[in-house]
Amino acid sequence: MKLDTKAMRHLTSEDWRVLTAVEMGSKNHEIVPTSLIEKIARLRGGNSGVHKSISNLAKNGLIGRIKEAKYDGYRLTYGGLDYLALHTYSSRKEVYSVGSRIGVGKESDIMMVADEKGRQIVLKIHRLGRISFRTVKTNRDYLKKRQGGSWMYLSRLSAMKEYAFMQALADEGFPVPEPIAQSRHTVVMAFIDSYPLRQIAAVPDPANLYAELIALILRLAQHGLIHGDFNEFNILIKEEKVAREDKSNTGAEAGEAVTLTPIVIDFPQMVSMDHQNAEMYFDRDVNCVKRFFERKFHFIDTPPGPFYKDAKKTVGKDGAKRIDIAVEASGFTKKMAKDLEAAIREQAGSKDDDNGEEGSSDDKEDSEDDEDFENGDAEDARSDDDAQSTEAEQNT
Ligand code: ADP
Ligand code: MG
Repeated sequence: MKLDTKAMRHLTSEDWRVLTAVEMGSKNHEIVPTSLIEKIARLRGGNSGVHKSISNLAKNGLIGRIKEAKYDGYRLTYGGLDYLALHTYSSRKEVYSVGSRIGVGKESDIMMVADEKGRQIVLKIHRLGRISFRTVKTNRDYLKKRQGGSWMYLSRLSAMKEYAFMQALADEGFPVPEPIAQSRHTVVMAFIDSYPLRQIAAVPDPANLYAELIALILRLAQHGLIHGDFNEFNILIKEEKVAREDKSNTGAEAGEAVTLTPIVIDFPQMVSMDHQNAEMYFDRDVNCVKRFFERKFHFIDTPPGPFYKDAKKTVGKDGAKRIDIAVEASGFTKKMAKDLEAAIREQAGSKDDDNGEEGSSDDKEDSEDDEDFENGDAEDARSDDDAQSTEAEQNT
């Protein structure tokens, strides 16, 4: 689903108030009754003002009217939630303008945005619960258990977890994007001018890059963590030019050499080294790197491993901070982790294969059957025009 910010600047302060009221109402209501929206919004203009805003918001696809409900009501759409998050960033002066989409996955949209100083930064919008119609049936039972905006809850958990881990990892000096801000189902982070490893055709020294990536897996383990999706889409390669020494004795020219620095992204599925399936996740991450280097660069690492049981012995060693424990203490609770994990597992199970689900800039627009069925009619109101540079600045 594409973020379309066209209507943002036209919303009045009353519209924002009503949109916020729908969001608040969704905490306890799958479909927010109009009477409750009126009560929460309490506009000076009375209920006619609320109705005007409701119809404006619905027209722009930010809320969706639910027709078959027992009572008259509305549901916040992903578009509405996107707007609320942008509105928050805008009022906190964290995001000033929204640019184009640079990535799209089944579970996220990645947008270029800019802050007030014009610095290019990245907005990641988490979109869990966009279950394709093919799999709705199997997922419905699960969703029934969490009424009241399961997609909203799960996407928010995903963003919260990503932000918490990004912060903790950055604090420990891991090569991750600098986390900047978080609101609802979104995260703002530094833009990494790079290519995903997937797009790198050749590297001068595969053994070196391979060793660096394995070392990263082991360093994460030492801090109690497994990435859980350590693949060629989630490793960004930054090319940095460095001055090369003058090898005058060999006759080689002095000049520039390129160093490749891997930056790791995408943290919603991270697990603790104490997780009951830790060994499986650890091996999967290691094998992912091995397989990729073999296929792409024809590089084969001769000794087997590294192994989970050896990595496990290093957890917390040499004064390494247990990030898995620290994050839990920071407010991302065990219950949240469990809910999110169940959702990620189900979503992974609903994929046809494990290729192509990652966001890459050349991905096609979502196909019809991947639309969020929870968005109902409102989805149709959204435009498919190419993302334009649109000010997120608001008139409230
Ligand atoms: P998903 O959870 O959908 O896989 P990711 O966080 O992996 O989302 O991002 C999808 C893609 O967007 C990445 O493969 C990368 O190409 C791009 N991307 C994400 N974050 C950044 C960033 N901070 N800087 C540059 N590109 C990014
Ligand atoms: Mg990814």
